[in-house]
Amino acid sequence: MATTPLADLPIDMHIHIVGNGSGGTGCWLKVTGWHRLLAAVMLRHVGLPGNAMTGDLDRLYVERLLELVRGSSLGAVVILAQDDVHDEQGRVMEGVGSFYVPNDYVLKLARENREFLPAVSIHPARPDALEELERCLAAGAVMMKCLPNCQNINCSDRRFTKFWERMAEAKLPLLAHTGGEHTLPVVRKEFSDPRTLTLPLEVGVTVIAAHAATKSGLFDQEYFHVFAEMTKQFPNLYGDTSAFNVPLRGRHTRECLAEPLASRLVHGSDFPVPVHGHWSWLWGFVNWKAFRRAQRIANVLERDYQLKIAAGFPVEHFTRIHRLLRWPAGK
Ligand SMILES: [Zn+2]
Repeated sequence: MATTPLADLPIDMHIHIVGNGSGGTGCWLKVTGWHRLLAAVMLRHVGLPGNAMTGDLDRLYVERLLELVRGSSLGAVVILAQDDVHDEQGRVMEGVGSFYVPNDYVLKLARENREFLPAVSIHPARPDALEELERCLAAGAVMMKCLPNCQNINCSDRRFTKFWERMAEAKLPLLAHTGGEHTLPVVRKEFSDPRTLTLPLEVGVTVIAAHAATKSGLFDQEYFHVFAEMTKQFPNLYGDTSAFNVPLRGRHTRECLAEPLASRLVHGSDFPVPVHGHWSWLWGFVNWKAFRRAQRIANVLERDYQLKIAAGFPVEHFTRIHRLLRWPAGK
């Protein structure tokens, strides 16, 4: 790993960029029904007006995010692009996805702001997947993000071997959503299972299972223990603790603090997903004083970080990602 000016600063490696295209960014957002309400709640939670969704969202969102990062203990955050949902033939499935964030947009934001590190998103079934990967590598991508269950990606499809091989060779890590998902429409529920990541793992890609495969809904299948078992088999498998401060996901915190699993986890918040200390307190991971102190922190990125520190996550939990990311020259 090349040393960077960020070397010992904590990084939040799971931050969503959202936009409605108002700034000519190419982003779009299609939320209907209760997802619309959920989106408005999330925006207000991070300090944006509820009507930002139909206003100048692109600019407001990035300005607010920058303000939060600068006002926190974090040295940088990894910002995520979001590719379209594609079918097996690599055709865009129109009307299925709920939001889109172009790779060029996160790459541009990262060039303009030293606090941002760009994670691109490429559906490997796209006819131009390999070319897009090369283009993003040249442009400084530090990670690749996908949601197999929402974007319809069978990561273990043999046709994708070349794509994963190139990622392994370039040392570009894969952040893949695992476990249930309720903020976005799910297309293939079975791809919530971390075992779907076997092929990229075998090929040698550093894979980070988002949310450590925990469940988010009461009736979701629980894959946390499947993930924990897999870390014994694959030394290149990691997990993130993103959205651990929502009702269910964080309930395996105690197991996450114990070795050998603790050394395989990295810090992420899943911004703009709400951060509340109630669950950590109810599960007994933080005491009343720490819970109250965290709730008084208006900055949600800092609140998530402080709650995890109070729960006992060690310093390395917040810096381990340094040696997993691809560090292009200049960052
Ligand atoms: Zn996420």
